[in-house]
Amino acid sequence: MDNQVIIDRPLKIVVASGKGGTGKTSVAVNMALACDRDISLLDCDVEAPNSHLFFQNNDNLENNCHDEFFDSIEEFSVSVPEFNDNLCNGCGFCKTICKFNAITMILNKPLFFTELCHSCEACFKICAMGAITPVKKMIGKIRRKKINDKLSLTDGILNVSEAKSPPLIKKIIKTYAGKGLCIIDAPPGTSCPVVAASYSADYAILVTEPTPFGLSDLKLAVDTLRQLKIKFGVVINKYDGDFGKVKKYCEDEKIELLGIIPFDIKIAQIYSKGGIIVNELPFMRDLFSKILEKALSEAVK
Ligand code: SF4
Ligand code: SF4
Repeated sequence: MDNQVIIDRPLKIVVASGKGGTGKTSVAVNMALACDRDISLLDCDVEAPNSHLFFQNNDNLENNCHDEFFDSIEEFSVSVPEFNDNLCNGCGFCKTICKFNAITMILNKPLFFTELCHSCEACFKICAMGAITPVKKMIGKIRRKKINDKLSLTDGILNVSEAKSPPLIKKIIKTYAGKGLCIIDAPPGTSCPVVAASYSADYAILVTEPTPFGLSDLKLAVDTLRQLKIKFGVVINKYDGDFGKVKKYCEDEKIELLGIIPFDIKIAQIYSKGGIIVNELPFMRDLFSKILEKALSEAVK
């Protein structure tokens, strides 16, 4: 593409949405493939990573764990406390300092709820009796795949029933964002995992759909990004021209409209088969490339 934005430092573009099902991952993947740039694509939707599905043979879609698709897999662990009742004097300081209610005192002894622990390590440091020892707990894994000469994919996958996604998301971004352009596919919503995926980003692309639900969740996502002080723009996906309130909202709020992806039966069919839009409809390459370049031009300002 002509007039590519010049990037002379590491740049992170996060693709987020206030709700699931807006096509966020599809936008991230198609942008990454549409432009002629070296890109690290990080799928940080660690409870349900699905970027890799777009790159696989569609025949494999039913078995979507797909570890065998990746070139390398590493386990990811966090530290959680282990208590020694023989050393504990029942002072309760560990309960007091834990802001996540992961420790309670029963009969003057700590009772630990591992599901609530956020591995903040505060309790490790305050036990004067040496009754708390950090131990490793494996909560998920990080998978990597070289898609082609220009694109590498990294995703994280959290173990079933684990709730500690932010440490895994932060680890992926810190270790694998690289020194060039990185596109982060964030989890949907506006809670802690989204903040973990977005807080270090240079720019955010919010993908929404032109429905009342889409607009409602877009407003929540906008609030979150404004609190995080991250610059952002909006992409309207599946636009059929019928619901102009999203456009109006963006105009009223002076939010950059980065692009509009039309509602098109051909796009829906490609998406439902796990296909890549810019490969099957080459004329769409220009649209996704322009969305990314527009975001980059805002990011480098
Ligand atoms: S801080 Fe240490 S000594 Fe005090 S209750 Fe907790 S584990 Fe026991
Ligand atoms: S590591 Fe942090 S979150 Fe976990 S139990 Fe200790 S104080 Fe609570």
